[in-house]
Amino acid sequence: MGFRIFSATAEQIAVHAAGEHPGEACGLLLGTDGRVDRAVAARNVAADPLQAFEIDPALLLRCHREARGGGPAIVGCYHSHPSGRPTPSAADAARVAEWGWLWLIATGAGLHGFMTVPDGPIAGRFAAVDLIILPPDADE
Ligand SMILES: [Zn+2]
Repeated sequence: MGFRIFSATAEQIAVHAAGEHPGEACGLLLGTDGRVDRAVAARNVAADPLQAFEIDPALLLRCHREARGGGPAIVGCYHSHPSGRPTPSAADAARVAEWGWLWLIATGAGLHGFMTVPDGPIAGRFAAVDLIILPPDADE
């Protein structure tokens, strides 16, 4: 399965990740089934943002409220791995709260996509998904 994301959004995540280095950047992904339309940068409120991420719960609440009011759905989240590790960690698996979410992990090498699935092959919680980067002029 694949997930589509606009190149400008992918670039925005990469810039956010670079700006937080050596800490972890994180944020929410808004969109529709199979497509990310927007990334919303979050404050990383983890006790140790160099080792972990925790999306500001106030942002999560606001996005859930907007989605219920007819705004874009939350389709997933992103965070960076300053170490360059391209796959979810055991700590990431422990943080999974929703099935069917797209998790994007940003490293210096690019974006890596995973879907949260029960009994997934990666850390017991994730399956890899193909990311399809849409050019800026994609008519979607
Ligand atoms: Zn992680």
